[in-house]
Amino acid sequence: MKIDVMGVQFDNVTMDEALSSAISLLPARRGAYVVTPNSEIVYEAMHDPDLLALLNKADLVLPDGAGVVLGSKILKTPLKEKVAGVDFADRLLGHLAETGGSVYLLGGKPGIAEKAGEKMRAKYPDLTICGMADGYFTDEKPVIAAIQAAKPDVLFVCLGAPKQEKFMAAHQKELPVGLMAGLGGSLDSFAGTVKRAPKWMIRMNLEWFYRLLKEPRRFGRMLRLPKFLWAVVLRRMRGAR
Ligand code: UDP
Repeated sequence: MKIDVMGVQFDNVTMDEALSSAISLLPARRGAYVVTPNSEIVYEAMHDPDLLALLNKADLVLPDGAGVVLGSKILKTPLKEKVAGVDFADRLLGHLAETGGSVYLLGGKPGIAEKAGEKMRAKYPDLTICGMADGYFTDEKPVIAAIQAAKPDVLFVCLGAPKQEKFMAAHQKELPVGLMAGLGGSLDSFAGTVKRAPKWMIRMNLEWFYRLLKEPRRFGRMLRLPKFLWAVVLRRMRGAR
């Protein structure tokens, strides 16, 4: 079932359900893609019809962040839970390791995918990482050719929004992979170069605050969170959904 949060059609799934849906998409190898918008990205999509269309065209739309879940509650159509992109990615890696599947890591600054790959292999020794490339390429052709040759089951596309959504939608037909996942800064998290908030902060929905403390340059972007919530409240008050 889909739930509309300010125009973005989210899948109303738990983490386990998100994982099952993702796994069911793998065998067809038709370049299905999953997006993981947080409230900043939903706010951006409210002002960018092209980004909104790319998000809503995805096979799976997961609510990455407490802000989106809160927004859905204010709109009286609550989403079941937050499905953080990085946690979803980790679960998917676990599945690939168990089933002999492979992943290709695309994105991040040079060296980040390698570091992330080392951490992934340490956690999942049976995981096959069949290729990796940084996200600062100028020519897409060799990147596409390398992914086609590697034939991964899953492609992590970590280029930030909206670049990753544009990449996945544009190359869907050329990339016979099971699933592409647009995961923003997740490779930085796996690599350990950007630390995640302590568990108690995640539990209290304060992960955004931790990121703000660690990366104050994000302040401008993060103002989109209160702007998003204000827009949600206005919509709720007007009774239009
Ligand atoms: N990035 C990239 N290529 C680009 C721009 C960004 O690979 O041309 C990477 C960047 O290094 C970072 C990620 O994309 O790892 C975006 O992370 P950010 O935290 O800004 O995005 P979010 O997760 O909030 O979408």
